Amino acid sequence: MFNTNSGSSNKKKMEKINLGIKQTVLERAKHRCQACSKKFRNQDTPFFYHINGSLKDNRPANLKALCKECFERTGENKIKDNMIGKIRSLIRRVV
Ligand SMILES: [Zn+2]
Repeated sequence: MFNTNSGSSNKKKMEKINLGIKQTVLERAKHRCQACSKKFRNQDTPFFYHINGSLKDNRPANLKALCKECFERTGENKIKDNMIGKIRSLIRRVV
């Protein structure tokens, strides 16, 4: 079990999908990739694809939960929604 205690009130310039939205999208997708139906496991990082192409439009209706493979096929992988990486770099900056 990971302690994902995110007390992050960090205001960043980049638009990011908040955890609540991710949860909504994942639950709607039944924790499966919406392209290949692969079930997400704990070690898998779900990726969120913007259906209308606007990376600023982070409404659940505009997001699709995809596995890494399917997400890479969409070509949107330039933007890595890697929470752990972001948190890590934040911690490093603070310390
Ligand atoms: Zn997939």
